[in-house]
Amino acid sequence: MSVKNNILHLQKHLADNVHLVAVSKTKPNELIIEAYGAGQRIFGENKVQELVEKEESLPKDIEWHMIGHLQTNKVKYIAPFVSLIHAVDSKKLIKEINKRAKQNNRVITCLLQVHIAQEESKFGLDKDGVIEILKTDFPNVSIVGLMGMATYTDNKNQVRKEFKYLKDSYDELKESQPNFSILSMGMSGDYSIAIEEGSNMVRIGSSIFGER
Ligand SMILES: *Cc1c(COP(=O)(O)O)cnc(C)c1O
Repeated sequence: MSVKNNILHLQKHLADNVHLVAVSKTKPNELIIEAYGAGQRIFGENKVQELVEKEESLPKDIEWHMIGHLQTNKVKYIAPFVSLIHAVDSKKLIKEINKRAKQNNRVITCLLQVHIAQEESKFGLDKDGVIEILKTDFPNVSIVGLMGMATYTDNKNQVRKEFKYLKDSYDELKESQPNFSILSMGMSGDYSIAIEEGSNMVRIGSSIFGER
């Protein structure tokens, strides 16, 4: 399978309401161009420097998503162009995003990352952390939903339970958050379960570009 075929296959099989983020981290520009040629416009990266370099050299109508953990001191590099930050996991970070968005005269859209996995190592907020951030007004940030990563396990029931929890949290918050429209959950190994549980944005890397 080629990158192009993988993209076409996903476009055909994902429902219209499910956004596809093609996760191109570590992959060369040639492969991104191949996906672009198949109509893909949303790409996700998890390292600031790589994201900045790719943005500079690739077509300007690409929407770049920052999907990985973001350090406060690096927000300034992506603030001019990033179209969605998936993994906001602290108030300190969102304050900095707000500041840099203002300097660039724009509103940056963000998702709050919720910790749903069993592993300690995955970043993310708990419910109280989410509510605390939503209570504060950040004029240059628009929080449009939630993102989460399930435990890396073969236990499908565990993964499903975690996605269900995130969907329930999303639905509950949505009642008081009119801007909420995106629930980012699901990667190459678990996106089918994520979609069954209500995801409307999947982040897929290796199933498109091959193993890293
Ligand atoms: C790498 C990455 C993905 C994509 O992972 P694949 O298993 O290659 O599909 C999705 N989300 C985040 C946050 C990632 O870092």
